[in-house]
Amino acid sequence: MSRWDERLAARLDELDAKGQRRSLRAAALMPHGRMVRDGREALDFSSNDYLGLALHPMLGQRAADYATLYGAGSGASRLVTGTHDAHLAVEARIAALKGTEAALLLASGWQANAALVPALVKAVPGAAVFTDRLVHASIHHGCAAAGVRQKRFRHNDLAHLGELLAAEADAPARIVLTESVFSMDGDRADLAGLAALAREHDALLVVDEAHATGVLGPGGAGLTHGIADVDIAMGTFSKALGGFGGYLACSQVMKDWLVNACGGFIFTTAPPPAVLGAIDAALDLLPTLDDARAHLLSLGAQLRAGLAGLRIDYGASTTQIVPAIIGDEEDALRMSAQLEARGMIAAAIRPPTVPAGSSRLRIALRAGHSAEDVDALLCALEACR
Ligand code: PMP
Repeated sequence: MSRWDERLAARLDELDAKGQRRSLRAAALMPHGRMVRDGREALDFSSNDYLGLALHPMLGQRAADYATLYGAGSGASRLVTGTHDAHLAVEARIAALKGTEAALLLASGWQANAALVPALVKAVPGAAVFTDRLVHASIHHGCAAAGVRQKRFRHNDLAHLGELLAAEADAPARIVLTESVFSMDGDRADLAGLAALAREHDALLVVDEAHATGVLGPGGAGLTHGIADVDIAMGTFSKALGGFGGYLACSQVMKDWLVNACGGFIFTTAPPPAVLGAIDAALDLLPTLDDARAHLLSLGAQLRAGLAGLRIDYGASTTQIVPAIIGDEEDALRMSAQLEARGMIAAAIRPPTVPAGSSRLRIALRAGHSAEDVDALLCALEACR
């Protein structure tokens, strides 16, 4: 073992001792809300393929068509020679979906978030940045990369945000970042209230729509649609849209700035044609999926009613993401393992991903699930709590 491998092995042993070591396991999505893991078919309550598009034949076919027509790779970064007509067409479609002037495609949702704040702060050095306490790790990463003094407001607490904004009235600019649907809680932000507050304090408002895009809003357009004071709607194609890639929907001037200043856009190879094909097909399908969206929300309501009956806390969830908040880390892990033994996958989510004392099973519903599947999950939860 090299000296570095010895050091790393010692750190991994420490994680092991605390029960915090993570490792990879192979799994494969299946239709009807199922997956195969370790060779066994199981009911899947952990993937984010909310609408079942990842396995939709139209996405696979168009990905294959684009790869055949345009190649497996895009050849260069966007600003050099990597911008194909298909990139511009997809960006125009995202802007139309989100009701913005323009949109920029990025390699992933992570990359969009991690690269955004550094690019904004490059335009206005010293800008004050405000984030909901529960925003995704990629947003925190972007704040750290930008070297900003990040001010965190209590989750969905507009009064607290208002106080923090007022205290930074002298900053050269203010940026507020939140999510429209929170990834570990399935609750929503008050976007109209946030937009009014941002306007009052002359702040830029950025909303992560990773878990809302495709599922909520008119035709699955997300929750920022029609809220004029949302300056940037970020999203991903890797969840309900069934493919891969991130986006920032914004004004044309903002897009032009990002093209000039966003390192995570400039210094990476353009997304490949197959990815664009899958996105294009998913955008074709999106307006036709109202029934799937309604079914998903009704499954959410059924699950929450069942959890209430079992006296299991589900927080403020109103969406297809429903946490079963267990509290203790060990209990959450044990329940997740017991569910798996019964053929159900519901990952335990622990600190630091969620606050201490709020370890949970994060239950993500898929439109392929039936009401019977949700009943089966509730029975299993009752048996193993
Ligand atoms: N934002 C949120 C809220 C997310 O949950 C995720 C995915 N975990 C991301 C951004 C990153 O998106 P992607 O998976 O496309 O990198």
